[in-house]
Amino acid sequence: MIRPGKIVCVGRNYLEHAKELGNEVPKEPLLFLKPPSSVIGMNDTIVLPPQSKQVEYEGEIGIRIGRKIFHASEDEVRAAISGICAVNDITARDLQKTDGQWTRAKGFDTFCAVGPVGTPPADLDSLTVVTRVNGAERQRGVASDMAFRIPMLLAYITTIMTLEPGDLIATGTPAGVGRLSPGDVVEVEVDGLSVISNAVVAG
Ligand code: ZN
Repeated sequence: MIRPGKIVCVGRNYLEHAKELGNEVPKEPLLFLKPPSSVIGMNDTIVLPPQSKQVEYEGEIGIRIGRKIFHASEDEVRAAISGICAVNDITARDLQKTDGQWTRAKGFDTFCAVGPVGTPPADLDSLTVVTRVNGAERQRGVASDMAFRIPMLLAYITTIMTLEPGDLIATGTPAGVGRLSPGDVVEVEVDGLSVISNAVVAG
C-alpha cells in the first residue's frame, strides 16, 4: 500500500468501548495522530516493544482520502473518500495510561496495520468491523454506533487540518479490546472489503 502522509485517529468514538476503559464519550471528537512509520501491511509482523507489558489490538474502519479537502461539507467529504480499509490501531495500553498524551503508546513501529483499500458503500453507516485473535471473534462494531459518524468526523477534521490524497483516518474502535501475546495472529476485517492479518512477535 501507499504510505499515508498522515494518520488521523479518533479516540472513544463508541460508547461501549469508552465505558470498558472507564471513560466517557467526549463532547467533540478526540483526535490524535499516528506516525506514518508505524504502518505495516498484510502478513508483516507486529513487534511488541520491550517498554510495554500490555499491547492491545484495536480493530477500526479506515478511510482513505482521494482528494484534497479543507473546511469541507459532509457531501464534499463523501466525494473525497477514495476507499475503505481495515486498520489495527495497536496500542501500548499501559503507556497510554501513564503518558500525558499518546504519541509513544500509539507510535511504535509496526503499530498501524492497514489492509488493502476497498470500494466505499453508498451507506457508510452500514460498515462493520470485526477483529479476530487466533480465529476467535473479539470485537464487532457497526459504524452507525459511532458517537461521531464518518462524514461528520471527516468534516470536523477538515476544520483543523487539510486532508490530502493518501491520508488515512482511523475512526475509533468498538468494545472488546484486549491484549496481544507473542505467537498470536490478529485479523481485522471490514465487511469483506478489506482484511488485514498479522502475527505478533516479541521485540
Ligand atoms: Zn484506536
